[in-house]
Amino acid sequence: MAFAYDDTNIFARILRGEIPCNTVAENDHALAFRDIHPKAPSHVLVIPRGKYVSFDDFAANASDAEIAGFMRLCAEVIKAEGLGLEDGHAGFRAITNAGPHGVQEVPHYHLHIMGGRVMGPMVS
Ligand code: IMP
Repeated sequence: MAFAYDDTNIFARILRGEIPCNTVAENDHALAFRDIHPKAPSHVLVIPRGKYVSFDDFAANASDAEIAGFMRLCAEVIKAEGLGLEDGHAGFRAITNAGPHGVQEVPHYHLHIMGGRVMGPMVS
């Protein structure tokens, strides 16, 4: 069973078009937009259109089509931002925060894709 989902969270409001975002790419299953407080020259958030609270919720409960759509959109963002190793670029960091220990602020699953500089240590 999916976790309880809060329809008032800010990414739900972005998906409903109630507040704007700076869209990078989108498909039937996912939306990618720029983080409002970027921590790197390129900082894009990829979110599923479906109501999933966190990575574990998405991984366990999303359909194969949703997961494929999400991952393909990530690949499109990485290519469009000029970050991908397969295109000869310098790479990126892709992370997700889950729950209180992960210090997740927005309770709608999202992947941070960050690049354009050398990232710092993973743990802080
Ligand atoms: P979390 O800690 O992984 O949940 O990170 C949430 C991210 O969402 C943070 O990096 C915020 O800067 C970002 N964020 C919050 N509100 C908005 C918004 O309205 N547009 C784009 N990014 C946002």
